[in-house]
Parts: sequence; C-alpha cells; structure tokens
Amino acid sequence: MRLEGKNALITGAAQGIGKSIALGMAQEGANIAIADVNMESAQETSLEIASKGVKSTAMKLDVSNHEDVAHVMKAFTEEFGSLDILVNNAGITRDGLLMRMKEEDWDAVLNINLKGSFLCCKEAIRIMAKQRYGKIISISSVVAFMGNAGQANYSSSKAGLIGLTKTIAKEYASRGIRANAVAPGFIQTAMTDNLSDEVKDEMKKNIPLGVFGTPEDVSSAVIFLASKEADYITGQVIHVNGGMYM
Ligand code: NAP
Repeated sequence: MRLEGKNALITGAAQGIGKSIALGMAQEGANIAIADVNMESAQETSLEIASKGVKSTAMKLDVSNHEDVAHVMKAFTEEFGSLDILVNNAGITRDGLLMRMKEEDWDAVLNINLKGSFLCCKEAIRIMAKQRYGKIISISSVVAFMGNAGQANYSSSKAGLIGLTKTIAKEYASRGIRANAVAPGFIQTAMTDNLSDEVKDEMKKNIPLGVFGTPEDVSSAVIFLASKEADYITGQVIHVNGGMYM
C-alpha cells in the first residue's frame, strides 16, 4: 500500500489513462477524486474506485475554466481534508496540418492541455504549500520531444507542460512540493482507437518493443512518482514509449 491515506485529484479520469491511474492509486490505498467534464462516466468510474475500499468522489470539472478549478479544489479539500497528489491528465487532440489548422483548434488544445494544467497547479499549490507537501504529476507526450506532423497544437501544449513542470519543481521544492511529468508514447485508449490500422502498423515500425503501450504502463510510472520511493525525484520526465524516443 504505497499511497495509503493519501488524497489524490486526477483530471480527465473518467476513462482511459486517467481511469487506470485512479484504479492503480486506489489499489495502493489512496482516496480519489475523479474530476472530469463527463460527469456520467466520472460517476461510474468513481463507484468502481469506491468498491476497492477507499473514499472516492466524482467532480464535474472543465480544467480550462478558472472558476471551475478553484471551486473543485476548495470542494476537494473540504471533503478530503488535504490534497496530496494532483495528476494533470485531462487532454484533447484537434489534429490538422499547421497551414490548415484553425485558430480555434489551436486555442482549444492549448486551453485544455496547457492552460488547464497551469490553472490546476496554481490552485493546488496554494493548498500544498500550506501543507508543506504535495506531488504534481503531469501527463505530457512523446510528441513534445519528437514533434508530430498534424499535431502542432498538441505537441506544443505537451512541450509546454515540461517547462511548467520544471519551473514548479524549482519554485516550490522548498515547500515540499515535487513536480514531475510522464511522457507516454502510443497508448491504446479512446484517443488513439480511431486511427486506421494502416497508420497504426506504420507507427509500430518506429517502436523498438514492437507493440503499443497500455494505460497500465503509464499508470505504474505515475504511481511510482506519487509514492514515497520517488521523494527525491523532482523536475524530471519519465518516458513510457517502448523505446520510440530515447
Ligand atoms: P481520453 O481517453 O480521451 O480521456 C481523456 C479524458 O479527459 C476524457 O474523459 C475527457 O472527457 C476528459 N476531458 C476532456 N476535456 C476535459 C476538460 N476540459 N476538463 C476535464 N476533463 C476533460 O484520453 P487518454 O488517451 O486517456 O489520454 C489521457 C492523457 O494522456 C491526455 O493528456 C493525453 O494527451 C495523454 N496522452 C495520451 C496518449 C495516448 O496514446 N493515448 C499518448 C500520450 C499522451 P470527454 O471524453 O468527455 O472529452
């Protein structure tokens, strides 16, 4: 039980990688808030988490809305007592080649993936600094490091998260706050399911391990960073990509 009694808020945790992080953290004894725009699936996931014997709640949250974020962080601490772990997982894609990319698609991706994480960090750090303890883990992506045709908005947002993580690590280490990122490669979730088999086969050629990752491959790295075993690690990125980028 590496996270016994810790209280964790995970954004975008109704499904996919976030859900796997939530389930994994609950198995390690953490209490969990599933904070997601999709309240119906958030509630379903929260019930599944509660069946593991920990406290769990679903909270409606649009990470790009500052009022929403401030409200959810306040409600979380009132209900759970402390905020020990924040996972910035909520993310979207709006792909297209740069010349054709609509400004609204750039803004939507940057607002949710990068500004959303900034807002969550800002509100969480107010609480964590008073506690003199906190772990912030942000889900970046391999494309932050490699770039990806068709993903100028997404790869910029994920690269921005690395700068945000390292800056928080420097600014708040003295308050006992650790900030790290996990950069997944190609992981099988709803976000990637709609790619054609042709594209998937092409992508596999660039993965030395020859297979796509699972949400659990990502969540085990996140849980490690959240645990006491990683207390001397801050400002770092763990790459979970089957060797796609090294
Ligand atoms: P996913 O299955 O699409 O799940 C993302 C969750 O976030 C969904 O429940 C979604 O709700 C929610 N969400 C969307 N906008 C939100 C907002 N404004 N506020 C709060 N929640 C919001 O995605 P995933 O594949 O699990 O990805 C999770 C994270 O890993 C993302 O940050 C993604 O960029 C990153 N990542 C994924 C991969 C991959 O291969 N899958 C690779 C690298 C990095 P709705 O469904 O209602 O929109």
